[in-house]
Amino acid sequence: MTNNKKIWLSSPHMGTHELGFIHEAFETNWVAPLGPNVDNFELDIAKYLNENRYVAALSSGTSALHLALVLSGVERGDHVICQSLTFSASANPIVYQGGIPVFVDSETDTWNMSPELMEEAIVCCMKMKKKPKAIIVVHLYGMPAKMEEILKIAEKYEISVIEDAAEALGSSLHNRKCGTFSDYGILSFNGNKIITTSGGGALICKNKEQADRARFLSTQARDNAPYYQHSTIGYNYRMSNILAGIGRGQMMVLSERVEKRRQSNRFYRESLKDINEITFQSEPDKNYYSNFWLTSILIDPKEFGASSGQIRLAMEKENIESRPLWKPMHLQPVFKDAPFFGDGTSEKLFELGLCIPSGSNLEEDDLVAVVNCLKKYKQK
Ligand SMILES: *Cc1c(COP(=O)(O)O)cnc(C)c1O
Repeated sequence: MTNNKKIWLSSPHMGTHELGFIHEAFETNWVAPLGPNVDNFELDIAKYLNENRYVAALSSGTSALHLALVLSGVERGDHVICQSLTFSASANPIVYQGGIPVFVDSETDTWNMSPELMEEAIVCCMKMKKKPKAIIVVHLYGMPAKMEEILKIAEKYEISVIEDAAEALGSSLHNRKCGTFSDYGILSFNGNKIITTSGGGALICKNKEQADRARFLSTQARDNAPYYQHSTIGYNYRMSNILAGIGRGQMMVLSERVEKRRQSNRFYRESLKDINEITFQSEPDKNYYSNFWLTSILIDPKEFGASSGQIRLAMEKENIESRPLWKPMHLQPVFKDAPFFGDGTSEKLFELGLCIPSGSNLEEDDLVAVVNCLKKYKQK
């Protein structure tokens, strides 16, 4: 039986207050990349993160990462360490800056950057007299990375850390929100993320000067002069006041959205617990709290009788959207010459993994349809 209704992986889920903020922007003619929605959205995020952080609302998560690298002083020829198992937007801004990405493999607990391999990469770069300028660590699919271990190593070598929390708004580690552990954190509000402004992002900073500098750079870096004078290269990266209005409404339902995704994750675990060939990306212990942006599973093809690729196609036939894990950056044609420190973990995860529908607007029938599709392919 074919499901007529498409079951999406992760689609936008509006609350009831977004339109009100947009109307207000129209009525007051704040239709620009500045205004009260932008200011208040920044304050809402900072308050939610609860660590006295300063937030700059930007046009995307990618632009936030780019500015984090600019503020970290990354320049042409600098090496920047980056998790390999991630979306390309984590790594591209390194190249925008003329830097050289150095990719590091994952560990098997969280699927995020391996602290041991990261240290190996740092030591190797230092032997070539190229100490890395920054480290980009990702909280993949919402799962917090091993920040304690990573920060300890980064401190030892005095390298600044940038947290790519694009997928991890609402996740935490030891009750501290992802994005607030490092020198800089970034968030994304793209259409498929845990909350969305249709497109948008934010840079999380430790102090006001950094956030002000990010705002300055994101609005074309205009000097304080009566005419247009520029002493530095600027960018057009600021968030629109209309989109920030969507963001303000979305912040009001963020906790519900996180809870709903976690609930779907629990449902999948419970429904598939008898199928030993399917395992989940899981919180290593009680200190880890994932927003489970996307529920991600590993399928052992020999035991299960079908590969993750075959299951993805079977789901497609039933109008269910699923997606392979991010293809690791060290396997990407565009990064084929970049150095890589690995032990095969991310390649294995990529081979076996599948992200299954996880949107906060899915109904129980949708989740049941996904489970049934998986069960059907389990060889007796
Ligand atoms: C979505 C995403 C980004 C980029 O965010 P945009 O807002 O789409 O530019 C960066 N890193 C990761 C891990 C992402 O998932």
